[in-house]
Amino acid sequence: MATASMSVKVPVSVDADKCIASKGCTVCVDVCPLDVLVIDMNNGVALMQYDECWYCTPCEVDCPTHALTVDIPYLVK
Ligand code: SF4
Ligand code: SF4
Repeated sequence: MATASMSVKVPVSVDADKCIASKGCTVCVDVCPLDVLVIDMNNGVALMQYDECWYCTPCEVDCPTHALTVDIPYLVK
């Protein structure tokens, strides 16, 4: 399975303490137009599976607990 390991830097980070995916939230997964976000079933936290982000940020904006941060690279700001 292709997952983002700790050694790979991806632009979306999720605060595991704030993410409520274990309570059924899939907002960020649902709003992402590229389907690059998944819920990690191992820990019940959202995760960026592929680094093909458009930096469109609805995932960050719509997250009900502000758990998700999109780290927009300087070049595309
Ligand atoms: S929208 Fe926020 S709380 Fe919901 S699964 Fe995504 S990161 Fe977790
Ligand atoms: S910024 Fe856009 S493309 Fe990137 S993970 Fe969020 S919704 Fe998906």
